Amino acid sequence: MKFTNSSQAEALAQIKTHPLQATSFYLNTDKSEQNLKAINAAWKGIVNQARIGLEKRELTKEAKKSLLEDLEKISQFCTNRLNGFKSPGLAIFSCSAINFWQEFELPHGPRNRLVQDFDFYTRPLYAILEKFKKICAFLVNRREAVWYEIYMGEIKLLDSLRSEVPKKVKKGGFEGYESKRIERHIENLLLEHFKKAARRTFEILKTNNFDWLFIGCDDQFYPDVEPLFHTYVKNKIKGRLKARPGTETSRVLEECLALEEKLKKEEEQELVKKLVSELERGGRAVSGLPETLRKLNAHEVQHLVITHNFSKPGRVCPECHSLFLTEEICTACQVKTEEVADIVDEMIEVALNRSLPLTQVSPPSKLDHYGHIGAFLKYRSAR
Ligand SMILES: [Zn+2]
Repeated sequence: MKFTNSSQAEALAQIKTHPLQATSFYLNTDKSEQNLKAINAAWKGIVNQARIGLEKRELTKEAKKSLLEDLEKISQFCTNRLNGFKSPGLAIFSCSAINFWQEFELPHGPRNRLVQDFDFYTRPLYAILEKFKKICAFLVNRREAVWYEIYMGEIKLLDSLRSEVPKKVKKGGFEGYESKRIERHIENLLLEHFKKAARRTFEILKTNNFDWLFIGCDDQFYPDVEPLFHTYVKNKIKGRLKARPGTETSRVLEECLALEEKLKKEEEQELVKKLVSELERGGRAVSGLPETLRKLNAHEVQHLVITHNFSKPGRVCPECHSLFLTEEICTACQVKTEEVADIVDEMIEVALNRSLPLTQVSPPSKLDHYGHIGAFLKYRSAR
């Protein structure tokens, strides 16, 4: 099933598996970033690690059996289905003892991970929801207007409008005063059509809470249409489309997704640029894993910026949850730290728990030259 809205994540959160435990599994299956061989190696590694981890855990026989069965089913699913799997991400939620199994095709590649706990681990689903913009595509020509909603890679027709505006009078057909009068009449009808469409755009944007507005309109009409929009609408305009009323829906979707991707990439690059300039002038920013970890532990991070899929093993203090790269003893409470497979993942977890803004940047970017990770700080870094 495709993952498209928050109610799917909420439904998972409602399921109680206590005293048994549940398995949540996330896999980046984006074949534009990696080949099938790499994807297969990734899930096998995660599932094996979970099996080994399960051996060490103290659980009832029944609970362990259910979790092992989950791992077995996930292995089977991946073996049989990944070859033809089209979505960039996969999530599986399983609790064999109560016969629960749910798989989602995700519109964006998640960080790979497998969690076995009392609840289903749904936070990455919410992170995906937040990543996507809700876009309205407004397409208009001299007779028609259509509105689409584009969200999470899907398109939905919202409304359409048709006005009776006659074609322009051919030159030579009429002459003098009469011809001018008719032309003016047609222009008024056209203006009425654009006004109606602009009003409806305002209503649609207001009721549906869109983030962005894309407009498909001929250059000759755009200067007439744009001034008719309410300021609220004008502030949402993020780009122009080649699509017009009558363009095939799949083509509209394709164009909108490409533009969304381009705009998001620009936003990311802009943020990295800001981070780099802050770093260069010794301002409120740090970069590199060791420094960023230190600042996160000290509660000084304001906004975390991470290269998508950047990952490194590390250590966590079981007492105070401080994060480290190599320290065997926690510097804060002197307790022995425990190994974790991915310290970056733990940082993301901390950021989400503290409601810190977090941006994952698609590589390549300038961030690659700064250790793939950095943060804006609440205070100037002491050097
Ligand atoms: Zn500690």
